[in-house]
Amino acid sequence: MLAKALPGIMPDMAFSEALEVTKVYSVAGLLPKDQPLVRRRPFRSPHHSASTASLAGGGKIPKPGEISLANHGVLFLDELPEFGRDVLEVLRQPLEDRVITISRVAASLTYPARIMVVASLNPCPCGLATENGGVNCTCTPLQVARYQSRISGPLLDRMDIQVEVPRVPYEELAGDREGETSAAIKGRVEGARAVQRERLGMNAANSDMSPRQVRTYCRLDGQGKELLHKAYKQLGLSARAHDRILKVARTIADLTGDKQIDINHLAEAIQYRAFDRGINNRRV
Ligand SMILES: [Zn+2]
Repeated sequence: MLAKALPGIMPDMAFSEALEVTKVYSVAGLLPKDQPLVRRRPFRSPHHSASTASLAGGGKIPKPGEISLANHGVLFLDELPEFGRDVLEVLRQPLEDRVITISRVAASLTYPARIMVVASLNPCPCGLATENGGVNCTCTPLQVARYQSRISGPLLDRMDIQVEVPRVPYEELAGDREGETSAAIKGRVEGARAVQRERLGMNAANSDMSPRQVRTYCRLDGQGKELLHKAYKQLGLSARAHDRILKVARTIADLTGDKQIDINHLAEAIQYRAFDRGINNRRV
């Protein structure tokens, strides 16, 4: 539900983005006749039985796959460990380079792949390992380890935000407390994106920052440096995770309209590294 709601809080596509999406859909033969220009951000959720070719693109003259069809939108992978390992590995290049290259005998083509990947997985095959300290989990440690090892470390490392989503208590589910509307959240997101455009130019977002830009725009004060240093050592973070935390902290600060990344922004960003913090490994 959260993943599906995501495009609703993302900023409207710029005209250039809409054109790019339209081109990809046109090449794939998926452009609806009554819709000459795709205006809505794509939301693609391929089934876990999807092949490498259907995700990356393929055919004699390669057509775009799900990764490119999700360009400027969301690619949602439900039950991530159920996807083939080879299939998931094709995500690595587009997550780094924002494009995907498909090579075939007849042609080698590069398609755009500026995507937001959202994935969900259970902590273990039965799904109860993190609930109530895992008392009801029926999986053996070996089963849990095997299940989690289906997703490669390098892929997880490329995920900016990893959070544990606890079961929603019934009272909250059935209650009539109204949350914030998507429109209100979208307004905040658009505000933050405007700040980022001013900082980085064109349609760039914080996730596009080069290592050099991270050094320039994600400066920490003494307290922040100390916290990140500690987290880096204690959680055994990779250099990539280190930079990703800084980018997320920058975005949190942008969302609250703060010029400077403070200790709270940084601590929140570190909280979003559930796998590095070993939240899923309690029973392993
Ligand atoms: Zn279990």
